[in-house]
Amino acid sequence: MVMKAWRIKENGISLDKMDTQEVLDSCVKIKIAYASVTLTDRLIAQGKLKCEYPLIPGRNAVGMVVETGINVKNCTRGDMVALKPLSSCGECAKCLDSKNVQCENTLAFGITEAGFLSDFSVVSSDNIIKLPERVNSEDAIFIDCIDIAIEAISKMGLEKGEYLAICGADDLGIIMAQAAMYYQIVPILIDMDPSFLQIAGDLGVYYTINSGEEDTKKQVFALTGGKMAHAVAYMSESNYPFNSSLEYVKNGGSIAICGLSDTLKELNVPIGQVHARGLSIFGILESNKNILSAINMLASKTIIIDALIGERIDFNDVDKELKKEILQGSTYLKTLVRMP
Ligand SMILES: [Zn+2]
Repeated sequence: MVMKAWRIKENGISLDKMDTQEVLDSCVKIKIAYASVTLTDRLIAQGKLKCEYPLIPGRNAVGMVVETGINVKNCTRGDMVALKPLSSCGECAKCLDSKNVQCENTLAFGITEAGFLSDFSVVSSDNIIKLPERVNSEDAIFIDCIDIAIEAISKMGLEKGEYLAICGADDLGIIMAQAAMYYQIVPILIDMDPSFLQIAGDLGVYYTINSGEEDTKKQVFALTGGKMAHAVAYMSESNYPFNSSLEYVKNGGSIAICGLSDTLKELNVPIGQVHARGLSIFGILESNKNILSAINMLASKTIIIDALIGERIDFNDVDKELKKEILQGSTYLKTLVRMP
């Protein structure tokens, strides 16, 4: 059978017809319903992130199971499923010890492996997760963001009632604020664009600071009763200035850099200040550990997605979206791709 897939090559992007992969015993074939175009996809398409060509882009997708291998037990034909953006090698010491989430050679769909911007996709049944009926299929495109948000909150070691300053009100920042509230942590969402702060405010995020208009450090000081935030989550794909975020955290606090690192190349961190104040800085790039919790947060409406989808485009227009110039703030909301 023939499938259609967008492929990035050295000389451009094209919509190609190709044979579908064979559905092996432990694999499932998915008819993709929704996918998204992310910053990663655009960086790859524009030659700013290295990969092997040709590559099918697309890290996030949701679809319907249309065929299952004979060993597949976790889904049946007709199920709606989300595809996980990461997979494990199955061969390293961690994988052989059944600790696949700690795999030493993580495989990333749309980067090291074929992604999901195609009408059909064949993946191992380990790489899908069945969606409860209560979860809106479009929303499940965001499970990796929710997964990263949960991971960051856990790594920052926050306790109930503590303050988390979130620098950057992009999709991940707004999701993190919602996840923080679920854990009874108090988010303070900071950005220079009032429209994204408004989206968060409408979702119940009580403390937002417009850095373009307010003295942010002073505001954080006032909101926290002079203690400053226990931790800062910095959204690397937002355009918030990183060094400012150091000012909002208490001495001995931690700063989690969440998202891709490609946007951080030009960063000059005042390491003397980091050292003197006993700050911990660490990165959260990927997780894959909290996918089930992420689905549950969508099912329970703990995380509301609607306003975080920027544009909805047709599958046939993916190339135009991939080629779009990456301007400041242009990746604050996700672009959803509807399959034919
Ligand atoms: Zn492995």
